[in-house]
Amino acid sequence: MITLGMDIGSTTSKCVLLKDGVEIVACALAPAGIGTDGPVQAYREVLLRGGVPEREIRRKMATGYGRKCWPPADGELSELTAHALGCHFLLRSARTVIDIGGQDAKVVSLDAQGRMASFVMNDKCAAGTGRFLDVMAGILKRDVDELGGLAAQAAAPAAISSTCTVFAESEVISQLANGVPVPDVVAGICKSVAVRVAALARRAGVKEAVFMSGGVAQNAGVRKALEDDLGVTLHTSELSQLAGALGAAVYGFQKMSK
Ligand code: ADP
Repeated sequence: MITLGMDIGSTTSKCVLLKDGVEIVACALAPAGIGTDGPVQAYREVLLRGGVPEREIRRKMATGYGRKCWPPADGELSELTAHALGCHFLLRSARTVIDIGGQDAKVVSLDAQGRMASFVMNDKCAAGTGRFLDVMAGILKRDVDELGGLAAQAAAPAAISSTCTVFAESEVISQLANGVPVPDVVAGICKSVAVRVAALARRAGVKEAVFMSGGVAQNAGVRKALEDDLGVTLHTSELSQLAGALGAAVYGFQKMSK
C-alpha cells in the first residue's frame, strides 16, 4: 500500500512516498513553502521519482504550517504528531525530538511507540529558528548551507547577546566592523540559536536518544552548539528535513491499516 505525506512549511515543501509503512519509495523537496507553487512542484517531483501513478496512492496526508492549503489531501495532521512519527521511523530509540524549521522550533517527547507524549514550542519569535540563520546569512552574503562549515573554523564564538533578531542584526554588523573574524561571528550566530532551543529542550525534559529534525539539522554549527549546551549526542539523518512529510505518510498508512 502506497501512502504519501506532504509537509508544507514556511520556506520549503517536502513530500514522501511510502510503501507499506516501512519502505521509502521517493522523496522530494521544493525550496518554496506556503502560498507558493512549492507543494505542486514537490508533488509532481515525488510522483516522477517514485514512478507511481497517482491512482495508486491510497492516502495523501498533509502537515506543516500550510497543511490546510493543499487540495489533493485526504486528511491532515499536526506537525508535532508528524515529526514524532517521522523521527521514530528514522531512529526507533528516539525519545526527544528537536525540530528547528524556518519559522519555529519545537521539542517533542516521545513514547516507545513514537507517539507524542508532550511538547514545548517557540513560534512567537524568529530568534532560535531557521529564519534567524537565514537573516544572518543574508547579512554575511553567504548561503545558509555554508554556515556550518564556517562555524567549524571559529577560534572562539563571538558573543551575540541580543534576544531580538533585529538587534542581533546590528550586533553582527558591529562585530564585523570591529574586525571579529567571520567564522567567529558565524559560530556566535549558531550558538545564539542553540542557547534558545536548549532552554526550550530543558523545559520539555531531555531524554536520550535525542534526534534533530527540520532544515536546521543540516547546520553542523547549530548541532554542535546544541550538543555542547545540552551535553548529549544529537542524532540526525540526511532525511531530517523530510521527517514531517515522512511522519505524515506513516500516519496515512496507520489510518488505512486500522
Ligand atoms: P519549514 O518547514 O518552515 O519550511 P524547514 O524544516 O524546511 O522549515 O527548515 C528551513 C530552514 O532550514 C531554513 O530556514 C534554513 O535556515 C535551514 N536550512 C535549509 N537547508 C539547509 C542547509 N542545506 N544547510 C543548513 N541549513 C539549512
